[in-house]
Amino acid sequence: MLLSSSIMFIDSHCHIHFPDLAKRMPEVLEHMKQSQVSHALCVSISLNDIPRVLALAEKYPFIYAAVGVHPGRKDTPEPTVEKLVSLAKHPKVVAIGETGLDYFHVKGEREWQHERFRVHIRAARACGKPIIIHAREAADDVIRIMQEEGAGTDKGGPGGVMHCFNETMPIAKAAMAMGFYISFAGVVTFGNAKELQRVARSIPLEKMLIETDSPYLTPNPHRGKTNEPAYVALVGEYLAKLKGIPVAKLASQTSSNFFTLFGIPEPEAA
Ligand SMILES: [Zn+2]
Ligand SMILES: [Zn+2]
Repeated sequence: MLLSSSIMFIDSHCHIHFPDLAKRMPEVLEHMKQSQVSHALCVSISLNDIPRVLALAEKYPFIYAAVGVHPGRKDTPEPTVEKLVSLAKHPKVVAIGETGLDYFHVKGEREWQHERFRVHIRAARACGKPIIIHAREAADDVIRIMQEEGAGTDKGGPGGVMHCFNETMPIAKAAMAMGFYISFAGVVTFGNAKELQRVARSIPLEKMLIETDSPYLTPNPHRGKTNEPAYVALVGEYLAKLKGIPVAKLASQTSSNFFTLFGIPEPEAA
């Protein structure tokens, strides 16, 4: 598809610091440019990878960073509220995450996941930065803990985003009631994602973000290949078609949502 030059997409969640993407960074960035992807938020998943995430954000003005420890990582250094708050002072860090609960990757004892999630929410409340939430087969507990800890703007929390959303409309509504945005990744483009597509159609554009979660979850028609931020354009084009609106409208509103949520000054339209 040939896009108008004014259209710009933003990848609100990627892991370009992972070796597969980091080792061919010039190409990854060139592809972003070709696909009209103007910014990307690089999200850490452990304390160990935060230096690499920050290095990318320091090097490239259009890359931002989030600091957190993924709920699917069991044997990794545990973050404290103080540690996360101090990491979040970095000028390119715009969010705490990714955090949340993952009962798919980690079976058994759940108490440590809950505690780690609470630590992230407390840190986000302390520094006022939005939370990037990962929920896999754990949506009810995620919403409960968000409410208990006051993650939402309804309880003076910073709000944030439900990343790679793959849940039902009631869960989306509960999150939006707490001031959270709903972010869609390549999963929504898959042929078997009919229910999720129905949900996406009902989410107001004003509450929607788009992402790749690269190197995972490559959208159609590239499913099976390594994902990268450039492909967020495919997610955006797909959602525009699904909602029956112009691609330019979806791109500009989701980009504007990104700047609003993460407190980044919106660049002047060229
Ligand atoms: Zn995730
Ligand atoms: Zn992720």
